Amino acid sequence: LFAGQSEFVKGVVAMSGLPPADRIEVCFAGRSNVGKSTLINALTGRKGLARASNTPGRTQEINFFTIGPEHYLVDLPGYGYANAPLAVVEKWQKLLKQYLSGRPTLRRAFVLVDTRHGIKDVDEEIMSLLDSAAVTFQVVLTKADKLREAEQQKVLAQVRDKLARHPAAYPEIVMTSSEKGDGIATLRAIIAGLE
Ligand code: GDP
Repeated sequence: LFAGQSEFVKGVVAMSGLPPADRIEVCFAGRSNVGKSTLINALTGRKGLARASNTPGRTQEINFFTIGPEHYLVDLPGYGYANAPLAVVEKWQKLLKQYLSGRPTLRRAFVLVDTRHGIKDVDEEIMSLLDSAAVTFQVVLTKADKLREAEQQKVLAQVRDKLARHPAAYPEIVMTSSEKGDGIATLRAIIAGLE
């Protein structure tokens, strides 16, 4: 499913640059360093497709990839850099809001959360934005290999609790480890199943 069928399409810095809305679309959001690039590379089966560890202050681009014959995978810029300049943050928030509320083919957002850290305030902000834009979102826990089972269960409970307050939240939480490959097939199947 999907492997070897991914291509980089383009990086976008303004709504006018978006590719035609001719494919079903899913987007990935998450705090910087959450493991988003690594997960996207695991999903697409192509190492280096999404640049790992984007540096702060780099152009805040929305990157479009194809995944399979019918879907776009959209990599949103990482958020939550403590020392990002306000102007950068504001520009990013504006583009993000426009994108989330103005993309008819966007079927689901995946909000990545580090299993060790759980949902933080900046994640809540994105989730509220997704509520407002009525974009169904699903939490993907990353780096699950870094925690033991009992600790994973605690985080799952915290996340479930917080999601209950978000009308756009999809209840199923996907736990992943790009390192071990856990949850990758599940995510691919979820994406492939969206119409
Ligand atoms: P991004 O900033 O969200 O794109 O994060 P990256 O994909 O660059 O990952 C940040 C760091 O976390 C890197 O050092 C990765 O090697 C590491 N990492 C990413 N995914 C995993 C994982 O599933 N398990 C472990 N143990 N480390 C991971």
